[in-house]
Amino acid sequence: MDYKEYITIVEDWPKEGIKFKDITTLMDNGKAFKSAVDEIVEYAKKRDVDIVVGPEARGFIVGCPVSYALEIGFAPVRKEGKLPRDVIKVDYGLEYGKDVLTIHKDAIKPGQRVLIIDDLLATGGTIEASIDLVEQLGGEVVGCAFLIELTYLDGRDKLKDYDVLTLMQY
Ligand code: 5GP
Repeated sequence: MDYKEYITIVEDWPKEGIKFKDITTLMDNGKAFKSAVDEIVEYAKKRDVDIVVGPEARGFIVGCPVSYALEIGFAPVRKEGKLPRDVIKVDYGLEYGKDVLTIHKDAIKPGQRVLIIDDLLATGGTIEASIDLVEQLGGEVVGCAFLIELTYLDGRDKLKDYDVLTLMQY
């Protein structure tokens, strides 16, 4: 399926010069959304995944249906101050700003095979930080899956040691 026809490109949002890839128009279309999720589910099946991890907020949208389909857990990665119990933290840089990401200390058990899912790979800062959190907890990152990859931002350079699936490239 050509998913790109369901992505809306929003010029100058959230800042001038950014061409934001809006996935809500893909989510709007049940068949396209299901097909995209199903592709990630098939990828996950080949990698014998124990748990899905997704960074807020769009990593939840794509990651949760994958964990549901596989009948495995989902662990959220969130901005500082959002998770209610003990967390570990990491500083990270993203395409437009800097922030802290956290995960619950007991979210991943040592040795678990983890698939990290987000909507979009840009500079790779968010996925790099998420990998760091998973590995600090002793998880093994067996794959990273995204709907969209912005190839001109070279996020893959940060993922040389990992297996990466992206369904669309710009
Ligand atoms: P990175 O950390 O790789 O630079 O940026 C990726 C993160 O920023 C993802 O969590 C993603 O949700 C968000 N992001 C950055 N640019 C876009 C965009 O154009 N569209 C969408 N949907 N998300 C974006």
